[in-house]
Amino acid sequence: MSNRTINFLRIAMVILMLLSMGLLIWQHFGMSRVLRIDTQTPYQITALDDRSQGGASVAKFARNQGALQLQCDLQKNQYEWPFCEMSIALSNTAQGVDLSKFDRVVFDMDLRGPEFKKVRVYLRNFEADISKLDDPLSSKVNELEFAPPKGEAFSVPLKYFRVASWWVDDRDVPIFSSDMRLDNVTQIEIATPGKVQTGLHQIEMRALEFHGKWLSLTQVLTLIVAAWLIFCFVWLFMELLAYRERDQTKRARMHELETINRVLEIQAEVLSNKIQLDPLTGALNREGLRDFLLQQWQGEMPMSAGMSVLFADLDHFKRVNDHYGHAVGDTVLRQFAQLVLSEIRSSDALVRWGGEEFLVVCPNTDLAQAAKLAEKLRASVANAAWPDSMTVTCSCGVAMRAQGEEFSSLIERADAALYRAKDNGRNRVELG
Ligand code: GH3
Ligand code: MG
Ligand code: MG
Repeated sequence: MSNRTINFLRIAMVILMLLSMGLLIWQHFGMSRVLRIDTQTPYQITALDDRSQGGASVAKFARNQGALQLQCDLQKNQYEWPFCEMSIALSNTAQGVDLSKFDRVVFDMDLRGPEFKKVRVYLRNFEADISKLDDPLSSKVNELEFAPPKGEAFSVPLKYFRVASWWVDDRDVPIFSSDMRLDNVTQIEIATPGKVQTGLHQIEMRALEFHGKWLSLTQVLTLIVAAWLIFCFVWLFMELLAYRERDQTKRARMHELETINRVLEIQAEVLSNKIQLDPLTGALNREGLRDFLLQQWQGEMPMSAGMSVLFADLDHFKRVNDHYGHAVGDTVLRQFAQLVLSEIRSSDALVRWGGEEFLVVCPNTDLAQAAKLAEKLRASVANAAWPDSMTVTCSCGVAMRAQGEEFSSLIERADAALYRAKDNGRNRVELG
């Protein structure tokens, strides 16, 4: 991975860390959402009492002196459960308010009246499977009965609300619909409790506040974990890309190196050939001869198996140069080398010893075989067609290596035989 990418990822990591911490701190200390119901509330608030059920209590509601006030003359007759309540309509449709987004509710209220210590709060949740718009009592009753402390606000977590057992009984609600749910509250009712004395009562509610967070701790944690997972994924992905790129570069370099090596090998081979070959005739030079002899020593067939050499020298070559020119002389030398190479075995070596003197080294060859070859070469040269229809002949001295004989001594003997061939009239073979 490049330094720029690594730096970018590091900076992103620091930013993500700061964001995570910031989000957690914000979630803890801020991010609050509040639903406040007080005298300013636009919701419709009405007073309800037990007269509709055959009771005799009379309730009146008023927005008074900065409070929502319920005046209640609670009377008992044949109706068993006298009550008064103020009913806050959050919605008149099937779509209520999602109070499950809040954690707690704060009551700022006072109760006045004989033995009036407790209040009952209903959060009515409209649920499609059990509630009907034309039957307000069909909305689920989540209730809480408590005694608010005098003169101070009282905060209760919403999880303390319970589905009213009397409502479940009355409505014959199936068990799987009887759980506490506050996700679609259409009505809030603040009522007198179950056991209360008759007489004049007053509920004075300055405010009712639902408190919650825009994002719950679980949501924030999920968000943070998701962000870190994405970050790790991106990091890994970039690592993978970088690895692939590195791998490809390495392969390309290897390939390049291999190519260079091959070219170098070829060049080295060409060079070593050049060093070992005579540029004019393509025959081996003395360096080439040295390698050839070394190979013979190391090969399967050591020189002790028998080796012969032929010393061949073109007759009166000076005259060729003199008559036809040096260039034609070169051509004759080249043609001579080609001719010899075509006649000898691949295991034999043709060496340009110097000028117009050539040495044919024949491993695993005895004197008779070498003499036969020399005679064949001599005849071929004599019968070959040469430039300007000239006649070219050569003389040969042949020698076979004695056991343990130095190569220089072998050559000397072949050279001596060649001299004899020259002395004896040229265009002939002599054995040494
Ligand atoms: P002999 O039959 O006694 O060998 O006579 P010769 O003339 O062949 O021998 P000599 O040694 O007197 O002359 C060899 C000549 O070969 C002399 C030189 O000019 C010629 N020669 C040597 N190397 C080259 C070469 O590379 N190219 C050409 N064109 N001529 C060469
Ligand atoms: Mg000569
Ligand atoms: Mg010569």
